[in-house]
Amino acid sequence: MSDLDHRSKRVRTVCPYCGVGCGVLATPRARGAIIKGDPDHPANQGRLCCKGVSLGETLEPEGRLLRPRIADRDASWDEALDLIATRFAEAMALHGPDSLAIYASGQLLTEDYYVANKLMKGFIGSANIDTNSRLCMASAVVAHKRAFGSDTVPGTYEDLEQADLVVLVGSNLAWCHPVLNQRLIEAKAARPELTIVNIDPRRTATCALSDLHLPLKPGSDLALFNGLLQAINREDAVDRDYVESHTSGLSDALAAAGAVSEAEIAEITGLSPRVLRDFYDLWIKTERVVTLFSQGVNQSVNGTDKGNAIINCHLASGRIGREGMGPFSITGQPNAMGGREVGGLASILAAHLDLENTEHRKAVQRFWNAPRMAERPGLKAVDLFHACADGRIKALWILSTNPVDSMPEADRVRAAIEACPFVVLSDVQADTDTARVADVLLPAAAWGEKSGSVTNADRTISRQRAFRQPPGEARPDWRMLADVAIRLGWEAAFAFENPAAVFREHAALSGIAGRLGRDFDISDLAEIDDEAYEALEPFRWPRAKGRSGGRFFAEGGFYTKDNRAHIVPTAWRPCLPATTEQWPLRLLTGRIRDHWHTMTRTGLAPHLSRRHPEPVIEIHPTDAARYGVKDDELASLGSPMAQAVLRVRVTTDTPEGCLFAPIHWSEHYAAKARIAALIPPDCDPLSGQPAYKATPVRIARFPVDWWGIAAAEAQFQPESDYWALARVAGGWAATLAGKDWAEVSPASLGLSAGDNLITVEVDPDCRFNVLTRDERISAAFLWRRTRPKVTAAQLATRIGRVADLDQLKSWFDEACKTVPNPIVCACFSIGEAKIRAAIATEKLNTVEQLGRALRAGTNCGTCKPELVDLLNPSSS
Ligand code: SF4
Repeated sequence: MSDLDHRSKRVRTVCPYCGVGCGVLATPRARGAIIKGDPDHPANQGRLCCKGVSLGETLEPEGRLLRPRIADRDASWDEALDLIATRFAEAMALHGPDSLAIYASGQLLTEDYYVANKLMKGFIGSANIDTNSRLCMASAVVAHKRAFGSDTVPGTYEDLEQADLVVLVGSNLAWCHPVLNQRLIEAKAARPELTIVNIDPRRTATCALSDLHLPLKPGSDLALFNGLLQAINREDAVDRDYVESHTSGLSDALAAAGAVSEAEIAEITGLSPRVLRDFYDLWIKTERVVTLFSQGVNQSVNGTDKGNAIINCHLASGRIGREGMGPFSITGQPNAMGGREVGGLASILAAHLDLENTEHRKAVQRFWNAPRMAERPGLKAVDLFHACADGRIKALWILSTNPVDSMPEADRVRAAIEACPFVVLSDVQADTDTARVADVLLPAAAWGEKSGSVTNADRTISRQRAFRQPPGEARPDWRMLADVAIRLGWEAAFAFENPAAVFREHAALSGIAGRLGRDFDISDLAEIDDEAYEALEPFRWPRAKGRSGGRFFAEGGFYTKDNRAHIVPTAWRPCLPATTEQWPLRLLTGRIRDHWHTMTRTGLAPHLSRRHPEPVIEIHPTDAARYGVKDDELASLGSPMAQAVLRVRVTTDTPEGCLFAPIHWSEHYAAKARIAALIPPDCDPLSGQPAYKATPVRIARFPVDWWGIAAAEAQFQPESDYWALARVAGGWAATLAGKDWAEVSPASLGLSAGDNLITVEVDPDCRFNVLTRDERISAAFLWRRTRPKVTAAQLATRIGRVADLDQLKSWFDEACKTVPNPIVCACFSIGEAKIRAAIATEKLNTVEQLGRALRAGTNCGTCKPELVDLLNPSSS
């Protein structure tokens, strides 16, 4: 039975957002779908976070790319695919295989990735295929390979629950991997002796649920873990049997770590010697310890060394591969792991084989019957766009990602794409910042419309299943890649009938990798038929004769040449770019709870824009006073690369000397908030992963002459010095501000005057415009010299109502008197005012009581830290 035969039934699939990889039950409806957590999925056992819960709100065809487009005109699939094949063939013939490149995404399914990688590395003959996963976890890949000889995550999610100590490093788990955080909270509730330590320069939502927060200085975690390795040795906690039987390099690693004394580590990290000793004692005395690391570690110029410094401590103490212990790299993206398994990075081959290993290359070439194999690593993401800029890349295919908003030096990346002679973009949305600079747009099938598989952060492979038809002429990515390959003359190798056929080939290739002694082997599934593929249950790899998904390395068995783990020397050296008088602050970047990447999907869900409708910059009160910026006003943030204008949030959560900005806003959602544009292209030399958390910047007040709010049925793009647009129920809402009152006009909202425009001069300092259609309000705008108390979301509640100006004015007078009510619990849309009222009237003291009274915090639990703050205002 095909996926779409299930259309009226509940379909088991997987969330397309983060690397937790939660199972989802989707029941299609005429509009959208009912979404629930899959109780039988091992990653989430029924739980979902607010992003997962809101998936049903993101399924409308609004804004979708419905048919291929060439140079801003509609085209047929045949015309578009013929053009791509012709331009690719020309580039290959005239400039060689390395003049082509693919830039893909951790959002792709494994089957998409497999076909893209096969096409580039085996048939075009270049390894110029890289992905946005490079920005997320490339340093962890290299750290794994240096230590284990393979890109293996040794442990499982269960280890986090079975551990007695979980150390989170550079991970705001509560917001970035909420369901895993929830599993941790529940494990701690059942077993209060489970200790959670959070290592992060910022006080994040994760801290509220941790026993100990180590607010170390940015970039100092390598010194911290080198100190731990010394302490393990000093306290005689080295597992001599394990080290002698299964590892090499400990003495060199100790010598490198010992070059910095404990007193110097205290100075480097900003943590007192007593705090350091307490942390080291706790780690050493707790046998079952998991050290989970994420982007705070990976996104650094020494991210690979940081990963190895963490892994070194686990290898030296023998705490790896057994229940409740081990280093654990958590991936940001839903299928970063699947991409790695099929070789979807410029530096690796398929099935965890090595591109630079002749035996591996020849085995893959034979298997694919490939005419020309790439023989050396290709261009990693940052270098790939540099090669577009300097003319080396003549044809580029971007799949399912938005590098104009997500790459470092994003403005230069936009210029590089514009400079590239031929750029194809396959994507779901018609108008992204990258789509505006591509030559050919291909409509891709979205989540819910395509089938395949994904691998989550603990090696669990799950089926993502279709439950609705793609709109217009949208197609899955694997299909369009195969169609171009066939046009280039490789029909036999790309004649895949369906994703199951791609998966079978991928599984068969992994069997060859298994016979070559590699970790990734799912060859038990090499002959899976279409029906069994359709019904495939989630499983953790490997899955091959005599091997099935547990943990790795408890008894050694590493994938290095000598079968030993390599404890890698990771000498400390300062590597953050210095702040200066001109650029005195350090910008830390990250995600917020309710949005994903560049908001192309989460930006469509009204639920998810209610808590954070505007892009913010967080600053410590001391710095705010020093640089003259005030809470809730606007500030300009500048780096040598670019500028942004953001709403200020003054908070002691961000350490003095640092700023924090979320990465999500694109030119579709804000005037000037593309944070990646401020980031320089500094990368880890081993992994090529850019450093997103170290940029020297400056901040200044952004004075404005007027403020506005606007709401409309249809999406609009304002034109003013500052604006931020958010999806709301029934339409769109924007907050605006500008420097010149004389320039205020409805035209600055970017809406066509359309129907009937009514302008009301409330007083010399306040104007009201209303657009009406059939005597109902289709859009409303209000400007005044001082900030309106009414929010844009409140104004949006008037859209669709009868256009009675007197009513509108009296509503406005009333609305000005209401107390601001930001949403706290996004899952159940519960606002701060309701929570405060319940605390006061029902005399509630605990998060659990709030949960029972209002349901707040009882689904994904990511708002619990904010509930704690509301219960104990003095703690915030
Ligand atoms: Fe999706 Fe949330 Fe689960 Fe991540 S934690 S996979 S975003 S539901």
